[in-house]
Amino acid sequence: METVEAGHDDVIGWFEHVSENACKVQSETLRRILELNSGVEYLRKWLGTVDVEKMDDYTLETLFTSLVPIVSHADLDPYIQRIADGETSPLLTQEPITVLSLSSGTTEGRQKYVPFTRHSAQTTLQIFRLSAAYRSRFYPIREGGRILEFIYAGKEFKTLGGLTVGTATTHYYASEEFKTKQETTKSFTCSPQEVISGGDFGQCTYCHLLLGLHYSSQVEFVASAFSYTIVQAFSFFEEIWREICADIKEGNLSSRITLPKMRKAVLTLIRPNPSLASHIEEVCTELESNLGWLGLIPKLWPNAKFISSIMTGSMLPYLNKLRHYAGGLPLVSADYGSTESWIGVNVDPNLPPEDVSFAVIPTFSYFEFIPLYRRQNQSDICSDGDFVEEKPVPLSQVKLGQEYELVLTTFTGLYRYRLGDVVEVTGFHKGTPKLSFIYRRKLILTINIDKNTEKDLQRVVDKASQLLSQTTRAEVVDFTSHADVIARPGHYVIYWEIRGEAEDKALEECCREMDTAFVDYGYVVSRRMNSIGPLELRVVERGTFGKVAERCVGKCGGLNQFKTPRCTTNSVMLNILDDSTIKRFRSSAYV
Ligand code: AMP
Repeated sequence: METVEAGHDDVIGWFEHVSENACKVQSETLRRILELNSGVEYLRKWLGTVDVEKMDDYTLETLFTSLVPIVSHADLDPYIQRIADGETSPLLTQEPITVLSLSSGTTEGRQKYVPFTRHSAQTTLQIFRLSAAYRSRFYPIREGGRILEFIYAGKEFKTLGGLTVGTATTHYYASEEFKTKQETTKSFTCSPQEVISGGDFGQCTYCHLLLGLHYSSQVEFVASAFSYTIVQAFSFFEEIWREICADIKEGNLSSRITLPKMRKAVLTLIRPNPSLASHIEEVCTELESNLGWLGLIPKLWPNAKFISSIMTGSMLPYLNKLRHYAGGLPLVSADYGSTESWIGVNVDPNLPPEDVSFAVIPTFSYFEFIPLYRRQNQSDICSDGDFVEEKPVPLSQVKLGQEYELVLTTFTGLYRYRLGDVVEVTGFHKGTPKLSFIYRRKLILTINIDKNTEKDLQRVVDKASQLLSQTTRAEVVDFTSHADVIARPGHYVIYWEIRGEAEDKALEECCREMDTAFVDYGYVVSRRMNSIGPLELRVVERGTFGKVAERCVGKCGGLNQFKTPRCTTNSVMLNILDDSTIKRFRSSAYV
């Protein structure tokens, strides 16, 4: 078998070298970032006019970490806004920024922009090549094969100052680097650009599945950014497989595909193929009637070697279902990164997702680590879920088994920026730490690529409860929430206890108001594409939160210290809430 080995040794050789010398490489990375940008307004404010080039590494790192403050997005937001408004003087980077990415999370209830530069697309290509190289050591693939990739580019728009805004993946799928990746890894996505950028989740998924089956004998692996998408795509397939079979048989395309460009592009690729259609029909009938769709993927894509996507962190709840569809096919957990910067690569693709950690790539950004210590006496039902922090340390000083929050200094103009992710150092790859992802700090609601914090939820509930008190004689007494990841599609459930009388119509409006008030871009996009279902408002009977408090106090003592958890996965608490639910509403937004 001819496999895609060429170039793999080079990229692995490069990574082994930089990880061996990770501490030195980190110093050089910081130096490069500062040399490139020392004159920008933000750095001048903190560092003055120091001559970076004349300083030795130690002095430079010490000066940087003692003078430049640790910040969050809100602190850099005014600079990013000025860039978005068209200001061209060097504010954060010397090189002009012409593209902004929408990162997950919000700042003061607004969508969060971060700068995107050529460096961002180049590092994406680099980590994909590196990751493909490590994967091929365990699961070699055939040259010229195809990938059944469930990928979706969102829409782009312009800011006041004419800068292009979109998600980092949208920029990447439109970039030269995406084409280069297919050519250098010699694996091609089944779907054309018109499907990837179609913008309608249902129509795109249908075409991804149809083309995946059209090319089924050539498909070497199945992939998506996050595993939630694969699970959703195949549960959709369980419903529509007959329609796809009919299309394959006749070389036709279902009338559910209404986007003209997408229709045209798909129709030029497919031909009537009755024998493939009857094979799929036979397999699906067996899967549906006897197997409960166990092993769907290898049965329909017999040459697939593995499944690849992010399976860690908030994707863990979908692993069971993914394993069910995978029927024994290896699950390869994809790399760790963010819109702000790529962070680490999975150098052990053979490990199950539960055990995967990511080797930090020391050339991509300058990384610092805030040591975190869990507060004592936490339990799921009544924890405030946070940590005691210590002074940040550089990569050279991280300790095995310690938990940290990551701080990034990037080539794209973020300096000592708190990412909010909690990671644990679980080992070392040569000289670079391997991080296991724990969770996004303060994050409470997440289903897919959406990320909402307690503050976001509070703001959303405030808005809707104002509406309630304006339109009725009722008020919200207490609330909590739950991300229902079992329902398909998953959705947010918000529980309200109210005092006073409220008509159903008013509560329906409040439910809709909350759905539209979550402005995190991951949520908005997922709602528009219906990969997250309509928000649900459940009204519980009076006194329910009192019962919750009693339960909680029983566990951790002291009613005066009790705070209602604003989000819960605790089954005892959910049982109390569900048993007390008297009304349910589903949002009518995004239809
Ligand atoms: P975004 O900036 O919207 O692309 O979201 C980036 C965030 O997604 C990271 O900060 C993490 O919280 C999460 N994330 C990215 N990659 C992984 C991974 N491999 N495992 C777990 N969580 C991840």
